[in-house]
Amino acid sequence: MYQEESIYKRYQRGFTLDSELTEPAYWLAFGRGRMLVTPDGLHLPCHKSLEELGITPVRTQYLGILEGKHCFSAELSPDTEALEGTEYLDLMSAYSVLDEDIYLLAGKATQIVTWDQTHQYCGRCSHETEYIPGERGKKCPVCGFMSYPRLSPATITAVIKNKQILLSQYAAFRGRGMHTIIAGFVEPGETLEECIHREVFEEVGVRVKNLKYLKSQSWPFPNSLMMGFLAEYDSGEIKVDETEIANADWFDLDNLPEIPPPLSIARRIIDWVVDTYS
Ligand SMILES: [Zn+2]
Repeated sequence: MYQEESIYKRYQRGFTLDSELTEPAYWLAFGRGRMLVTPDGLHLPCHKSLEELGITPVRTQYLGILEGKHCFSAELSPDTEALEGTEYLDLMSAYSVLDEDIYLLAGKATQIVTWDQTHQYCGRCSHETEYIPGERGKKCPVCGFMSYPRLSPATITAVIKNKQILLSQYAAFRGRGMHTIIAGFVEPGETLEECIHREVFEEVGVRVKNLKYLKSQSWPFPNSLMMGFLAEYDSGEIKVDETEIANADWFDLDNLPEIPPPLSIARRIIDWVVDTYS
């Protein structure tokens, strides 16, 4: 479970391109939340500029070096059409078709694009912001307020009891069959552990103990960092919070209902629990 996957095997991050671009670069370009790809096996467009594709981006950000080539993220205006030789790919479905580390880089790129788009002006005094050299940050030249891309930490926890796992169906998934483990956003002032105790109790009414960190996953919809834990059942009967959860129950590890698709951290944790505790 502690196995590390890293985009840094193929990618070296950067914030500013100090020289003129002389070679084609990779473009991670987003319009209406979808990414521009070439249809030949879902590759990133590789050009000296998006204008070569007939596309004028709203703004661009330098990301660093991917496989020896510079790479950029770009915000496209919502009415930009995919021109010949390109198509749009919904990032959530890209999850299962792109190479995993390209997908991770795309997740990073879309968060940087959104942050840049939504931090054009100072949140304190509304003056136009400026990039901070050598960092992924912006600063207001008038009041000095600084902003950095925001992450929303969330916990996701497999609760186990003997050879059973606690799985629930979100109210939003009702009728679609998928069951998953308990997840929730960390609130201001909370530790990860406090978040888990609160979320599990609020959503399904049971108390847990012996929390153990398993692994994390970036979830760029829109800016979560999911932190996965294992917890043992301590006490209480299942009683669901019906506004968030349709139902919840203990399931035998050899007889699970429909669970989330591969690659999601929820699935990886469930698979790990099955392998470890069956
Ligand atoms: Zn300001």
